[in-house]
Amino acid sequence: MTSPSAPPPAPIIEFIVTGDEVMRGLIADTNTAMTASRLYPLGLSLRRTTVVGDRGEDIRRALLETSVRADFCIVSGGLGPTSDDLTAACAAEAKGVRMVTHQPWIAHLHERWAKIRPGEPLPKNNLRQADVPDTAEVLGNPNGSAPAFALQIDRCLFFFLPGVPREYHALIQDLVMPRLVAATGNAVLRSRILHCYGVTESRLDELVTPIREAHPEVRFGFRTRFPENHVTLVALAADAVTAEANLARVEAMCRQILGSFVYGHDGVTFAQAMGERLAARGETVCCAESCTGGLLTQLLTEVGGSSKWTAGAFVTYSYELKTSMLGVPKELLEKQGAVSESVARLMAEGARERSGATWTLAITGIAGPGGGTADKPVGTVWLALCGPRGTVARLAKYRGDRGQVRMQSAFGALQLLREQLDHEAS
Ligand code: ATP
Ligand code: MG
Repeated sequence: MTSPSAPPPAPIIEFIVTGDEVMRGLIADTNTAMTASRLYPLGLSLRRTTVVGDRGEDIRRALLETSVRADFCIVSGGLGPTSDDLTAACAAEAKGVRMVTHQPWIAHLHERWAKIRPGEPLPKNNLRQADVPDTAEVLGNPNGSAPAFALQIDRCLFFFLPGVPREYHALIQDLVMPRLVAATGNAVLRSRILHCYGVTESRLDELVTPIREAHPEVRFGFRTRFPENHVTLVALAADAVTAEANLARVEAMCRQILGSFVYGHDGVTFAQAMGERLAARGETVCCAESCTGGLLTQLLTEVGGSSKWTAGAFVTYSYELKTSMLGVPKELLEKQGAVSESVARLMAEGARERSGATWTLAITGIAGPGGGTADKPVGTVWLALCGPRGTVARLAKYRGDRGQVRMQSAFGALQLLREQLDHEAS
C-alpha cells in the first residue's frame, strides 16, 4: 500500500529503437545512450529499451506492447522518405487511425528544398514525410526534413523522432525533455557540466559527496570521457529563479572544493579551453609530436577558431625527421634514444625556433603495445614545453593501451602548458 503522503510514482519511460543497422550491429545505438544519460539525473525511470529492425510487424508489435505499460516512449528512426522508413505508418496502424497530410509541413519541405537545392524540383518521395497519423501533434524538426510528432496510444504518449543523431539530439533537448521534466511536477530544469582533468572519478565523487548529501535540490551525475571526468549538476524547480539560484549555489561550492581540477564547463574540450586562453593572451602554440602522431594538434584544431591559437605542427616519427625538421642531433638520438629528456627538450626548442610560436609542446614516448624495455616500459613518455622563459620537461608513466597512452600524452602536454600559464598568473 502506498501511504497518502508518498510522492506520485515517477512516470515509466521506455525507448523503441528502429533500424536494421542497429539490429545488425552496423551502428551503435548512441541515441538511447545519450538520452538515458540525460534522464538519469532527473530521477526519471527508464524501464526498458526495445530494438526492432525495419519490419512493419515488429514495429507495430513493439508499439502496442509499450502502449499498455509505459507513460512515455521515445521512438527513434524510420521517419525518412525511403521504403524502409515505416515508423509513421506503423504508429497510425497501432493507434487505428489513418495517415493524414500535414499541410504546413508540405510548405516547409518546399521552402527547405528551395534553399538547399535552388532550381531543382522536390522529389515526390520527400512529400511522404509530411504524412503523419491522424490526431498526432506535429513537433517539427529544425535540422531535417522528417517532422517529429507525438501520439497518444492507450496509456502511453509516444514521441516519434528521426534517427539521425544531430536531429534526434536537438529534438530531445528542446521538445521532449521539457515535457518529461514537467511530468515530474517540476517546470524548469537548469544544468551545468563541470569538466575536470587530473582527478579520478572516485576521488571526484568523494570530494563532492558532502555537497551532494547536503543539497538534494540539485542532482549529481558523473561521466568519464577519458581521460577527463565530468560532474553534471541538474537543478529542477517549479520556477526559473529558484532553479538558477539552487544551481549557482551548488556549482560555486563544487568549484571551490574541486579547485583547479575544473578546466571548463558545458562541452568545452581541454584543448579548446587551453587554446582560448592562449588566444586571449595573443599567443600561439606549435606541437612537435612523435608517439602521438599529430593527436595533440588534432585536439587543438578540432574546434572552430583554432587558427587563433594553433601555429601548426611537426610530426616527426623517425630519427631522420627529428634531425632534419627539428634539428635534434643524430648522435644524441643514437646515444640516448628518442624517448629521453634531452630529445624532448630539443624537439620543443627546435619547433619554437622554426615556427615562431609563443609556446611549443613536444611529446616523445612509447605508446605500445611493442617497443617497451625494462628501463623504458610502454607508457614512458617525455613531455617538454618551450616558451618565452625557457624550457621545462616532465617524465610521465602512463598506463593503458596504445590509444590511452597517446591520449594521456596529449593531455599531459597541455597540462604542462596550463601549469605554466597558471604559474605566470599567480
Ligand atoms: P532518414 O531521413 O535519414 O532516413 P530516419 O528518421 O528515417 O532518417 P533512420 O533511417 O532510422 O532514421 O536512420 C538514419 C541514420 O541515423 C542511420 O543511417 C544512422 O546512421 C543514424 N541512426 C539511426 N538510429 C540511430 C541510433 N539509435 N543511434 C545512432 N545513430 C542512429
Ligand atoms: Mg531512414
